[in-house]
Amino acid sequence: MRMSDILQWRATPAAGLYLHVTRRCPLSCGHCSMRSTMHLAETDPAPLRSLVDSFTADDHPRFVCLTGGEPLLRPGLVRSLSSTAKRAGSYVVMATGGFFISKPTVPPAIDDALRTIDHVVLSMDAFHEPEVPRHLSIEFLRTVLDRGQGASVQLVGTGPADPYVVATIEDLRRAFGDQVAILVGTLVPVGRGADLGTVRLVERDDDPSATVAAQGCPMLSWPVVTDDGSVVACCDQHVVDGAAAPHLRIGAAAQLTWPEIRAFVEQRPMSRAIRVFGPRYLAAKGAPELLQPGACSTCHAVGGHDGVDAAAAELVSSPTLSLIEGVVQRDAITRLPNGVPELAHLAFAGTAVAAPRRRG
Ligand code: SF4
Repeated sequence: MRMSDILQWRATPAAGLYLHVTRRCPLSCGHCSMRSTMHLAETDPAPLRSLVDSFTADDHPRFVCLTGGEPLLRPGLVRSLSSTAKRAGSYVVMATGGFFISKPTVPPAIDDALRTIDHVVLSMDAFHEPEVPRHLSIEFLRTVLDRGQGASVQLVGTGPADPYVVATIEDLRRAFGDQVAILVGTLVPVGRGADLGTVRLVERDDDPSATVAAQGCPMLSWPVVTDDGSVVACCDQHVVDGAAAPHLRIGAAAQLTWPEIRAFVEQRPMSRAIRVFGPRYLAAKGAPELLQPGACSTCHAVGGHDGVDAAAAELVSSPTLSLIEGVVQRDAITRLPNGVPELAHLAFAGTAVAAPRRRG
């Protein structure tokens, strides 16, 4: 399966589930949004296992995304989560920084875990390269592809003209043509990235003119189990790090099953209304005094407000809502969060997916 086949489902509620396997990482990339180190408390594996055990052949996320920190610091856990999810029918994607790539041989436990993964997403950027050389990353991707697994690259830089981004894309296209999709993202001032001082936080759908046109948020589609065992409905890093308003907090993974998480994301009026209309439109309808310049700040402000809950309930009661949801989902497929718009087509390499549309 190619990355584009996965991205087709990105805005479909509960089509995917992110599992943070650990917050630890042996690399020390200067832009790490998680501020990962090897000294952080380890994630309790029990809630992750119990949640994945609740998947059934009839009810499971289409995609399970193992992420971190560095998931392959816990190869036994990766192997068991991946195997259990796949038995239920999920397709397993794993993000890795590839710390093991520069070792003379890949440790057997890591290799065993890797072989259970359907699609590997490798981070390659100017911050990883001092510890994970590019030519070794390309060799690793070749091994993954030769085994019949899917492979993609997550590449972060300052923009389309970033010399590192340009050179890496050239090397990857020379090695793999369009076989390996490249998700090119911009540096964001989150985690250690905030310490770089070179990037400004532009809020999602930041709208200083304070207009309130409906602008749905696709980030409330695939729920996330965070490293402390909480389950949140939005995959924005601030929410994952704990800044979740009540309507974005699903609960504790240890006490939830997959059908309960799916129902929260798919059916809750607030979930549906934010996904389709966006928090600012919702605030304008139910509590205009809570409107903020940005979508996320408004989203956090409206949590738990009775007037906004009522506006959400009214909006989703429309008989045409399902039709609108379908249109919004299709439109969101090519709007990659924090992506570099000029290079968004590289994420859809080798497929007939419609060319990404520029916003505005
Ligand atoms: S608007 Fe709300 S749901 Fe969307 S990314 Fe921001 S906090 Fe998450």
